[in-house]
Amino acid sequence: MSFKSLGLTTAFVKAVEEKGYTTPSPIQQKTIPIILEGKDVLASAQTGTGKTAGFTLPVLQYLTETKQQKNGPLRALVLTPTRELAAQVYENIKEYSKYTDIKSGVVFGGVNIVSQKSMLKNGVDILVATPGRLLDLHEQNSVSFKRIDVLILDEADRMLDMGFARDLNKLISFMPVKRQNLLFSATFSPEIRKLAEGILKNPVSVAAEPQNSTAVKVTHKVYKIDKNKKTAFTIKLITDNDWQQVLIFTRTKHGANKLTESLLKAKITAAAIHGNKSQGARTKALKNFKENSIKVLVATDIAARGLDIPLLPHVINYELPNVPEDYVHRIGRTGRAGAEGEAISLVCSEETEFQNEIEKLLKEKLNSEIVEGFEPTDTAEAKRASTQSKGSFAKKKKPSNSNSSGGNSPQKKPFEKRNKPANSSEKGRSAAPKRRR
Ligand code: AMP
Repeated sequence: MSFKSLGLTTAFVKAVEEKGYTTPSPIQQKTIPIILEGKDVLASAQTGTGKTAGFTLPVLQYLTETKQQKNGPLRALVLTPTRELAAQVYENIKEYSKYTDIKSGVVFGGVNIVSQKSMLKNGVDILVATPGRLLDLHEQNSVSFKRIDVLILDEADRMLDMGFARDLNKLISFMPVKRQNLLFSATFSPEIRKLAEGILKNPVSVAAEPQNSTAVKVTHKVYKIDKNKKTAFTIKLITDNDWQQVLIFTRTKHGANKLTESLLKAKITAAAIHGNKSQGARTKALKNFKENSIKVLVATDIAARGLDIPLLPHVINYELPNVPEDYVHRIGRTGRAGAEGEAISLVCSEETEFQNEIEKLLKEKLNSEIVEGFEPTDTAEAKRASTQSKGSFAKKKKPSNSNSSGGNSPQKKPFEKRNKPANSSEKGRSAAPKRRR
């Protein structure tokens, strides 16, 4: 399977080859021909699957083939939940469109609006945006949606989680009714289904597998621990094992800052990434982490979501997420092809209920252990934990029912899906991709 055989023209084939991609990922194989045909798509896909190229390449090709004016008008819009994801998608668009005359731009909050206004005034064919800032720009008449032909919602579930439902509906109300819609989401809650029903017309459903994941095994380990000893234990884990690249999740921004300070005091290089950090600080932290100039990245769920963080050997849940699906997203960051990944959770007495919820979602018991000197203070809890055996389970294990967030297919089944063959759940794909519009 080649990019050319999916219906992409030389300009795009050349651009992806230069990125080093030799074969399309499963989601790309599924979405590219369908999108080129002009159909609506409902895709179950998270970061790491190659979804960005899966939607940007065919949309860019459509824009190239139908372009009439040098600068704009705006005909394709990608909405993303976070600034980081917007910046990443935009970077991809720039690279994929380098052999075309397509003009692209990105707008998000937290940075000066003036330069964004002048970029929009000059005209772009495709724009990547976070909903809030885009609405501001629309209210100030700096952008028009009247010619929008393709709307893409990336990480739609997270946009809803972040409270963007009203903004999304408002933005969409300014767009022409006749347009192509592509919705990407990692999970399918009833809210997402409702959003999809309101936006998509006869969508083709596709599901994606994360790339290179067949050989990936992730072990889950829970340490039952005293709440006040979590920081000391984290430092011990990193130093004793000499870990070089660790992603740590905290539930709150304040918690992320506090832990980062403690790590720095212990001479472990670290940076925090969350919603209160400036755009510059977040970009810098991620860059340093990727380049191995810092060992630890401490992140909140929302900040980490959608980031192109390489798969890592170690992910630590400093606190368990109170939304069980977030556990699945977090541990999706660990494991490398052919190597073991480890997801470690530090669980204090008051988090027992979160652990139960996660176990319910996974249909698996997370095996727990207690480390001498860090025992939980609640003795009943300590007793309960100590009766549980040590051990781990692999990502390959299939939960018998992971459909707990209420939706039907294509609800993500976290561990099972990673090992399924690539071309499973596609419907109605045409052999000869041709856009019918
Ligand atoms: P995404 O899921 O879109 O965030 O992409 C995850 C990572 O996979 C990014 O670093 C992409 O550059 C990379 N990628 C996308 N498509 C391919 C491909 N066909 N082959 C290899 N890497 C890819």
